[in-house]
Amino acid sequence: MDRFKLQLAASEILFEHGDEGSCAYIVESGVIEILRSTDGLERVVARLGPGEIFGEMALFGEHTRSAGARAAEATVLTRLTHDYISERVQSADPMLRHMLRTLTRRSRELLEGRSRPATAEDADRSLAINRVRAEQELTLALEREELLLYLQPIVHLADGAPAGFEALIRWQHPQRGLVPPGQFIPLAEESVLINRIGLWIIEQSCAALAVLNTLGPVRPFMSVNLSGRQLNDPAVLPALDAALARHGVAPQQVKLEITESLLLQNIDEGLPLLCACRERGMRVSLDDFGTGYSSLSYLHRLPVDTLKLDRSFVLQLDSNEAGRRIVAAVIRLAHELDMDVITEGLETKEQIQALRGLGADYGQGYYFGRPAPLAAALDFMRKSLL
Ligand code: C2E
Ligand code: CA
Ligand code: CA
Repeated sequence: MDRFKLQLAASEILFEHGDEGSCAYIVESGVIEILRSTDGLERVVARLGPGEIFGEMALFGEHTRSAGARAAEATVLTRLTHDYISERVQSADPMLRHMLRTLTRRSRELLEGRSRPATAEDADRSLAINRVRAEQELTLALEREELLLYLQPIVHLADGAPAGFEALIRWQHPQRGLVPPGQFIPLAEESVLINRIGLWIIEQSCAALAVLNTLGPVRPFMSVNLSGRQLNDPAVLPALDAALARHGVAPQQVKLEITESLLLQNIDEGLPLLCACRERGMRVSLDDFGTGYSSLSYLHRLPVDTLKLDRSFVLQLDSNEAGRRIVAAVIRLAHELDMDVITEGLETKEQIQALRGLGADYGQGYYFGRPAPLAAALDFMRKSLL
């Protein structure tokens, strides 16, 4: 018998009504009788055999037993400790946690014929309710077309000519004004909302490309951010195919951006999608490179065409010679692996000159242009054609 198992003889009492309890049990063999007293009479209200669980209410609510338990014959049980369960409960969705506690409290009230005020569940309740409200608001925003596509230019570093744009989402909130993605994308990423938003961005990005294509011979690319959840979303590839076809855009104009850490976390699901996109001619960019693992040894095995060096790399350029050498080495490595390099967050002339000197291919940052609606992107393209 190990320390998780418990052996009871026939008629042995495990616990009585009102006892303190901190674990639940699974019946391995034998039979457990659940006992409840009414009007001074003890009655068997349930007989539980192998595979059944009992004593679970003590794990979620107050730790007192609402009934007794006795072995009807020689019985073996497995213990589920409070710590074991609370670890799992804490990592669950707050709404599920709230419902579980509410359910437990209601069952107790029914069993005991009295009601009690909510206590321990209050924190989860407000967390859960706030999240539901925020998710519903975002769902409505999508339906009411409050989400906006903003575009930020990406230029050839050699001469500053436009090369493409990054699609960056905004929320035009009726009260809060223009909300940046950092304030709603993380919430969306916890549910299928991000999948719906992702499909919307794909459609909008291709529609914007079609408009940009009307300007003339330059065919800019569009960098579209993908979230982890989208990597195993079967709707993504058909949505890309359909949007490209509907708007008459070449797959070569679409660059999917995925962060290094998200790709590595979802590598099994992500590879088939990214490989299928590349087979069609789309390209893949490794976003925020330099903020995650930046393990260089696996780079050549990833289906990636572009390394996108994070702003933190660019900032190192200003501060020290060692930083400059690291950036130089990463750019050389990318080129060795037939990848091109986009540097993010360029704000000064000095940064641009330094990166140009190090051979980076493309630049993106406030220096060239902030994220803005399609009209500004069109102006940006037009100016370069003059
Ligand atoms: P990101 O993909 O790393 O996007 C670059 C962010 O850097 C953008 O912030 C951009 O406005 C900002 N930025 C650009 N140039 C400069 C600069 O010179 N200096 C500084 N300090 N910042 C610069 P934004 O638009 O707020 O987006 C934040 C993040 O939200 C993005 O980071 C991306 O992770 C996420 N996001 C935005 N749009 C989408 C989307 O459509 N789908 C998904 N899944 N995520 C998105
Ligand atoms: Ca990005
Ligand atoms: Ca980035």
